[in-house]
Amino acid sequence: MQYVSSRGAAPELGFADVLLAGLASDGGLYVPERWPKLPTSAAHTYVERAVEVMLPFVEPDLDEITLTHLCSEAYATFRHPAVAPLVQLDHDQWVQELFHGPTLAFKDVALQLVGRMFDHVLGARGERVTVVGATSGDTGSAAIDGVAGCEHVDIVILYPLGRTSEVQRRQMTTVDAPNVHAVAVEGTFDDCQDLVKAMFNDAAFRERNRLSAVNSINWARVMAQTVYYVTAAETFAEPVTFSVPTGNFGNVLAGWIAREMGAPIREFILASNANDIMTRFVQDADMTSRDVVPTLSPSMDIQFSSNFERLLFEMNGRDGGMTAEQMTRFRSTGRLDIEDDQRDRYISGTFRAAAFDDATTLAEIERVHAETGYVLDPHSATGTAAARMLATVGDRPSGPVVTLATAHPAKFPDAVEQAIGVRPELPPHLADLFELEERTQTVANDLAAVEGLVERLTRRA
Ligand SMILES: *Cc1c(COP(=O)(O)O)cnc(C)c1O
Repeated sequence: MQYVSSRGAAPELGFADVLLAGLASDGGLYVPERWPKLPTSAAHTYVERAVEVMLPFVEPDLDEITLTHLCSEAYATFRHPAVAPLVQLDHDQWVQELFHGPTLAFKDVALQLVGRMFDHVLGARGERVTVVGATSGDTGSAAIDGVAGCEHVDIVILYPLGRTSEVQRRQMTTVDAPNVHAVAVEGTFDDCQDLVKAMFNDAAFRERNRLSAVNSINWARVMAQTVYYVTAAETFAEPVTFSVPTGNFGNVLAGWIAREMGAPIREFILASNANDIMTRFVQDADMTSRDVVPTLSPSMDIQFSSNFERLLFEMNGRDGGMTAEQMTRFRSTGRLDIEDDQRDRYISGTFRAAAFDDATTLAEIERVHAETGYVLDPHSATGTAAARMLATVGDRPSGPVVTLATAHPAKFPDAVEQAIGVRPELPPHLADLFELEERTQTVANDLAAVEGLVERLTRRA
């Protein structure tokens, strides 16, 4: 498989190069040159189906034996044998639990695999990288856990000192691996992000330390997420609808790809919190950026859904020049318009959307708990609320709806306790989180200081 950039001006690359590149050199996002047909299944397990679904995307760079090995190791870290099990909440309502990985969020599904793919490809090439990233708290641990113990990857994650929850901090600082460095910055999350950007913009520093990222625009992350849509959809006798708590659009895009490949999926419901740019887009074809509002579902607090560019490229008939122009205009004006025929073809009948404020999200956690005993986290609760609100199309029921449960409730204990009066407990594998020794350093909000620290911490080739 070869990959092309959504902005049409970067070289075509194979899977391994796309994996390591992340962003394309023209600022675009890599997509496969075509969508392969979903292979018929001889699989009995999640890993077997994962290999079937992903093999066409990674050949010839990774062969079937290698992919099987990487998937087996990645999903052995999950605490449920089905990896992404379905739980029924109501007649036509299910949740798919994507939070059985090491850090309790759905990002583990992709990052446990992508970290291993990085290490494999770098090892084969005799290269190494330093992954740097910034986190406000919830997503740093999934990146750290994904590459912990990798021989050819060092990771430095910057977080704002004193501004993460204790669980969030401990999930990052108690990982006992020599290549992992969680660093507290004397500043805000924005400062951390600015420092990471500045390191990437320092060409000499970037080259010398072989800087890399594993952020959500990396193609391999989207690819790994297509698998659970396929396994869930194939469980039902009729096409299913997925309700997806949405931030950067990576998760729901993976579902759209699974449907393009032929998975029996009817449509997608996008669930947002008060940061509702995608909901407004689906409802009114109006994409206008606004300031981010902090909510109880922080992993969905975004100003722009970066993975949307991949869908836009499709909507533009894979015209990279046109996509580049629209993205440049969006960056300068904060507004993106699409044509009516694009809307009819790509949005209507494929995406519906609903947004919920924090009070409604808490009420949804309480309602589901009262009716079924099931405890949702605030992200997943926007999904079930949307699934229920949009359970009919016109006056027809829309059939089975699967809401993706993107985080374990114990990852957001304050919100859950506020909703149901009970504090959700950490699962057994994290029960000792508060006893483990923390490894962290504190650094000034200063580029030279942070670059010096990165140079000292990371291993040389
Ligand atoms: C990242 C995340 C999301 C949003 O997913 P996107 O792929 O960015 O749309 C939703 N819920 C949780 C818990 C997350 O960590």
